[in-house]
Amino acid sequence: MAARAHAKLSPSGAERWLVHCTPSASLETQFPNSAGEAAEEGTAAHALCEHKLKKALKRRSRRPHSDFDSDEMEDCADGYVAFVVEQMQEIPNAMVCIEQKLDLREFVPESFGTADCLIVGDGILHVIDFKYGLGVLVDAEQNPQMMLYALGALTMFGSLYDVSKVRMSIYQPRRENVSTSWSISADELMTWAEKTVKPRAQMAFKGEGEFAAGAWCQFCRASPRCRARAEAQLTVAQDEFRLPPLLTDEEIADLLPRLPELVKWANAISAYALESAVNHGKKWSGYKLVAGRSVRKYADEGKVAEAAKSAGFKDIFEHKLITLTSMEKLMGKATFNEVLGGLIIKPQGKPTLVPESDKRPAIDVVSEFTNLEEKENG
Ligand code: SF4
Repeated sequence: MAARAHAKLSPSGAERWLVHCTPSASLETQFPNSAGEAAEEGTAAHALCEHKLKKALKRRSRRPHSDFDSDEMEDCADGYVAFVVEQMQEIPNAMVCIEQKLDLREFVPESFGTADCLIVGDGILHVIDFKYGLGVLVDAEQNPQMMLYALGALTMFGSLYDVSKVRMSIYQPRRENVSTSWSISADELMTWAEKTVKPRAQMAFKGEGEFAAGAWCQFCRASPRCRARAEAQLTVAQDEFRLPPLLTDEEIADLLPRLPELVKWANAISAYALESAVNHGKKWSGYKLVAGRSVRKYADEGKVAEAAKSAGFKDIFEHKLITLTSMEKLMGKATFNEVLGGLIIKPQGKPTLVPESDKRPAIDVVSEFTNLEEKENG
């Protein structure tokens, strides 16, 4: 299965090079573009979606296979197909393009992209993007990747279909996120292309502009070595040491939202240093490679059982239920709910501190704590 090719200024990185940090795309070219396992899994999931959608639309397609095949991937791809079919019904006699290659060079130097699905008709262009990732929740609103796809699609079909309105949807099943139908007029989109995309893409292509560190750095290949990111994170770390003798509540509250980035950055540096040492023999001053902690295991379970039995030990096997997830896979969702629904409990998760913007409802631990104390005291 071929991974999708990426342009230097790829739509998938547009949030970074177009919106926040224009010189990042040039800096990244010094680092190899090695797709991680999550990216490979995403490619496999996209291939399955493509196949299932083509089949649903009675088009020829051969089923792809990969090491990532799973019931979860099947379910996600089925859900995506149902979502697309539902969207198609809103535009009568629409043309549907699947995995459509788009030329973006009119707006962005040497750039191209592939849209998962385009539905065009009745003056509307609907761009749909499937996201298999779990990490970042993706929103369709003002999403520059999708807006670039829309520009490519407008160039391709706009005049043919007299498109006046562009809709965008993200289908991200593993985060239970369907960010659907954000709309923009074709005219507004073209204004954005002229006023924002073209000038910023030129800057990005030449490596011009200011470096700007932020959440988007985690997908930048230059991030472990980037000075701007290091400076941004070290300012956070220094703040912590500069304030004697104790941090105030306000200072801790100010640090909290900055810590996840600091941790990500620190992990990225560690991973980069380890990878260079293991795979390229890089020596880091004051550091050496050692074998990590390992866990003992049976060399041959059959022989272990025989040896233990002949030594007179009987209770050497344990018998336990398969996990809840395996049980659900075994029975299928509907039967699982029918047979075991009443026997499943979901305890409340451990308290987690998250920003106010998080969608989960707040829990009131103080009153829970008080209730508990009252019960205990009689
Ligand atoms: S790591 Fe961040 S600041 Fe540095 S080039 Fe990449 S996006 Fe810009």
